[in-house]
Amino acid sequence: MESQKTYTPRFSFEFFPPRNPEAVGKLQTTQQRLAKLSPDFFSVTYGAGGSTREMTLEATISIRDNTGVESVPHISCIGSSIEEILAVLQRYKAEGFRHIVALRGDLPSGAASMGPLRYANELVEFIRKDMADDFCIDVACYPEFHPQAASTRADLENFKRKLDAGANSAITQYFYNPDAYFRFIDSCEKLGIDVPIVPGIMPIITCTQLLRFSEACGAEIPRWILQRLRDFGDDRRAIREFGIDVATELCSHLLAQGAPGLHLYTMNQAEASEAIWANLGLDKR
Ligand code: FAD
Repeated sequence: MESQKTYTPRFSFEFFPPRNPEAVGKLQTTQQRLAKLSPDFFSVTYGAGGSTREMTLEATISIRDNTGVESVPHISCIGSSIEEILAVLQRYKAEGFRHIVALRGDLPSGAASMGPLRYANELVEFIRKDMADDFCIDVACYPEFHPQAASTRADLENFKRKLDAGANSAITQYFYNPDAYFRFIDSCEKLGIDVPIVPGIMPIITCTQLLRFSEACGAEIPRWILQRLRDFGDDRRAIREFGIDVATELCSHLLAQGAPGLHLYTMNQAEASEAIWANLGLDKR
């Protein structure tokens, strides 16, 4: 963890683009509340194959204009043509965005073709070649390893490829076992990786939602968490309070050991992030 301690910590919240007017209104309230916590930026996800292209752009612009906080759009390459990717990057640039999160994405079921850019390192390479240093680029990484990785070693090397292609920093997939993060950082240091690797944190909101996401992305839910969630049954309040406690403890441990900030997957909700921020004293930054 030594190299991570040298970076100024950065704090961010992630949203997904709202799909209907009610969700737009809810996200606006969430942004206003979370803006009061003075994050370094808000980021907005991008549906694979460009499925949320306009919605991501609209949400990112609206967040920036309504909150004054830096707003960072994601982009993914799988299933998109070079022309489509270039058009999105040019729109981002024209709208004044200078920081993006670059991902491969996951192919929607039934998608016809992967497209010319098959992995995120190819996307980063493309951005650097075509748009030089117009963007500061974050990429994803996986302390518990990506589910499709051929091996842990290959996954680390593939992560390094994205940095060698020109990415500036990384955000992790969520995890509940801090040792997975610390070990991952140690392995990165051994490979000579020296960029900030910000832990991604998913506050537990409901048990079914957590199981569904974790199944898809390969994040492990420790048995003690699952057992407790099962005992809470339908008691949403107890689950929420427990989730906030778990995330607070995890974040506190990560920051104490030198993690260079936090990135919270908010699920477009403010309550859990606000409570975690207050517990950590980050609301007074
Ligand atoms: P890659 O880095 O390309 O890795 C994917 C897999 O391929 C890994 O197993 C890797 O080891 C392997 N690999 C990589 N490069 C090579 C290579 N050159 N040769 C052979 N194998 C290789 N998804 C979205 O659709 N939209 C979003 O907005 C979004 N935001 C995210 C934000 C964060 C912080 C994170 C952690 C994930 C996000 N995702 C998003 C999910 C992400 O798209 C998936 O996890 C996806 O499966 C992998 O994306 P990646 O960019 O990490 O892919």
